[in-house]
This record gives sequence, structure tokens and C-alpha cells, in this order.
Amino acid sequence: MSTLPACPKCNSEFTYEDGNAYVCPECAHEWSAQAAEPAEAAAKVYRDSAGNVLQDGDTVTVIKDLKLKGSSGVVKMGTKVKNIRLVDSDHDIDCKIDGFGAMSLKTEFVRKV
Ligand SMILES: [Zn+2]
Repeated sequence: MSTLPACPKCNSEFTYEDGNAYVCPECAHEWSAQAAEPAEAAAKVYRDSAGNVLQDGDTVTVIKDLKLKGSSGVVKMGTKVKNIRLVDSDHDIDCKIDGFGAMSLKTEFVRKV
């Protein structure tokens, strides 16, 4: 889920994307989508399954049973995961789970406590 930037001219939040450009329906201002990207990448926002913003050190719970790669273990739904660390990768949460050790989770499968 990505949020589009507000219109730099009139501050409208109804911006929509048109190819490589952003368009403001209120004042008809058009600007390049490319220019906005470096800033967005620098401040990546991690969100859980419910859309809450996650931060390093947060505690989350797992919202579905997660099979562990390369083992028969399953991290049960409802498992509490303390002190998460957010990383820029496919599995964007680094954490340690009691009984399982260090592992990586996806933000879409957790919910902030
Ligand atoms: Zn505008």
C-alpha cells in the first residue's frame, strides 16, 4: 500500500498516478513521480497487517500460523514477538522468537501489540 504525495501547489490529497506522473484533480497540476521517489525510499515506512506503523523495538503478534522454511516447526498464530528489528528486504522483520531463535518475518503477517 503506497500513499501518494500531496499536491505541491494546492496541497490536495487526492493526487493520482498517471504513468510516470502525479496529477492533482483539484488544480490540474502535474509533476514527475520520479522526483518524489528518493525521499520516499530514504524514509521507508513499515506497516503491519492492520496498517499500523512499525518501529525497531516494537512488540508484535503473529496473525497466522507460519511454517518455518527447512524445518517442521510452525510459529503459531498469536505468538508474541518482542523487540523486532526492521530491515530492508523481502522479509522485513528480523527478530528472535522463544523456542525458535533468530528468524525473519514479513510485516504483512504480524500485528502491533
Ligand atoms: Zn493541486
